[in-house]
Amino acid sequence: MAIPLYILGQETDPHSEKGVDCPGELPAASDPGLVERARKAKEALGDRLFVLGHHYQRDEVIQFADVTGDSFKLAQQAAARPEAEYIVFCGVHFMAESADILTTPRQKVVLPDLAAGCSMADMATFDQVEEAWEALEDAGIADDVIPITYMNSSADIKAFCGRHGGAVCTSSNAKRALEWAFSQKKQVLFLPDQHLGRNTAVLEMGMSLDDCVLYSPHRPPKAEELRGRKMILWKGHCSVHGRFTAESVDDVRRRVPGVNVLVHPECRHEVVTKADHVGSTEYIIRKLEAAEPGSSWAVGTELNLVKRLAQQFPDKNVSFLDKTVCYCSTMNRIDLPHLVWALESLVLGEVVNQITVDDDTAHWARVALDRMLALP
Ligand code: SF4
Repeated sequence: MAIPLYILGQETDPHSEKGVDCPGELPAASDPGLVERARKAKEALGDRLFVLGHHYQRDEVIQFADVTGDSFKLAQQAAARPEAEYIVFCGVHFMAESADILTTPRQKVVLPDLAAGCSMADMATFDQVEEAWEALEDAGIADDVIPITYMNSSADIKAFCGRHGGAVCTSSNAKRALEWAFSQKKQVLFLPDQHLGRNTAVLEMGMSLDDCVLYSPHRPPKAEELRGRKMILWKGHCSVHGRFTAESVDDVRRRVPGVNVLVHPECRHEVVTKADHVGSTEYIIRKLEAAEPGSSWAVGTELNLVKRLAQQFPDKNVSFLDKTVCYCSTMNRIDLPHLVWALESLVLGEVVNQITVDDDTAHWARVALDRMLALP
């Protein structure tokens, strides 16, 4: 099939960027009044509005967040504010879905730009995971397998886990979730981040790399390769954290004497193995808060957050682990013009870019989330 090429700025391909259509007047990014417009709209909406800002958001957006945090903390915060009619989620699509699942039916969750997705979440579609499960059934092992999905997955995938006796996990509780999973079944299908699954299994739970097998939906392993492997790792990864390399760790150690390398468990196994400290975004923040003045830190996570932490702790030498820019490009789609547009539309009584999860999916996704919340 021939793929049409469009001249930049003249035509759009509706299939290349799902959901980028923005009905209505989007303010220009250069509009000097944007900050004032956002402030006024927020003021007009008062307690009816609750703005959530993920740690990886741009500064221009995060300044309007009522609370900042990682995806799970933000969803919990939304659930704890039943009086807020509108939850404006400055994050990515799967996060807004989780907020919709955990809030009351009266509350409306808005994602200022529908194209703010997550490449990792998109690497596991419902149809692919259903097909994989059929392959496990054909291999005669499905009864021995429990699916666990990382928070960074679509509501469909969370619901799949709920239906099949599984649970959700975060980067903070992945070990506890896996311990629980192995108390239920012999094997785990870990979705969608191979790195978090492998790093937790090998570095925190003492499994070997041979206990893990990679499941590519495009080239599935043979039945005999799946049997007896404790961890069946979905072949997904984060396009941001997956960019850090073992060489970047070696390089920073050469350049900065005594540096502490602090990385997120979504980084590749060889990076995490070479690092001094590994943990979730919240862990990274706490670690830097508690660090000795004058100490040096090379941090392997999203660049907006690392830059903010470097500004927040000027008495510590905080640098970015890699020399190349590593923003989360999809998260960065939420910019001030989109936020202003979403807020001003709400002031006019128009709910734009509402994220809704259908009742059946929401029910089973909630089952998987509740299993996580009940973890010992
Ligand atoms: S940083 Fe990675 S996991 Fe997080 S939203 Fe961006 S692509 Fe997804």
